[in-house]
Amino acid sequence: KWIFLNDRFVKKEEAVVSVYDHGFLYGDGVFEGIRMYSGNVFRLDDHIKRLYESAHSIMLEIPYTKEELNQLIVETLKKNELHDAYIRVVISRGVGDLGLSPFTCHNPGVIIIAEPLALFPKELYESGIEVVSVPSRRNRSDVLSPKVKSLNYLNNILVKIEASLAGASEALMMNDQGYIAEGSGDNVFIIKDGIIKTPPGYIGALEGITRNVIIELAKQQGFDIREDVFTRHDVYTADEVFLTGTAAEVIAVVKVDGRKIGDGQPGEVTKQLLTGFRNAVTKDGTK
Ligand code: PLP
Repeated sequence: KWIFLNDRFVKKEEAVVSVYDHGFLYGDGVFEGIRMYSGNVFRLDDHIKRLYESAHSIMLEIPYTKEELNQLIVETLKKNELHDAYIRVVISRGVGDLGLSPFTCHNPGVIIIAEPLALFPKELYESGIEVVSVPSRRNRSDVLSPKVKSLNYLNNILVKIEASLAGASEALMMNDQGYIAEGSGDNVFIIKDGIIKTPPGYIGALEGITRNVIIELAKQQGFDIREDVFTRHDVYTADEVFLTGTAAEVIAVVKVDGRKIGDGQPGEVTKQLLTGFRNAVTKDGTK
């Protein structure tokens, strides 16, 4: 198994980084999670765009052009002979002094890992999952923008712990005002009386690429879809709830904080969007 590390491919066992890398010391860096379906890298350009925007926002210069990075990702997949895979691209601030200042780091680290992945067992895509809302809060755009996909995932990790302790597969995070923001690594949608809603980014949600694909699909299929704020009450009383993400894909939520959603089965609109998504992932991408 080959990992791309800084400027070359190395064996998995030899893919190690320095203890002075600020990505490790401070979570100083950005990343992307990307999927390949049947030899097709889904929305690669969108992921690369978000990665460069995240890096630019934290004053981190990626030492490759977008085209070069695109090629390196494709090469990593080829070298590992993968057709269906999850790809993790990490750009770290690089090796520097122990101080917080990023200006002692002169060579950003570049890591590309690709491996097979199934986040949830197949049955859960049929039956739907149970989620809980958790005490940890998602920051809004007044602090670090939620649009930056940074290496600082401690908040999301706490959310994951809180979900696991409650026996749930995933969690819903609220922002400091109590509006639903997103899951630990996915976006959330609710459907009520035929209207589909997902929280706007400024509430404290990453503008997920899967989320954007679902917004496009829903529009194409003639649904009324809106970016709008909502609370836990709106989730509990929704007809359907689902999550979207590169790793999670599109998955129905059938119970939230012990409240059954709709009739407790994945809803018709969710199923229709999941079918549309499955069709899109094998067509719409980079070979
Ligand atoms: N929200 C968070 C916090 C995430 O980490 C992710 C994963 O990338 C998402 C949402 C879903 O975004 P995407 O569909 O681009 O994977």
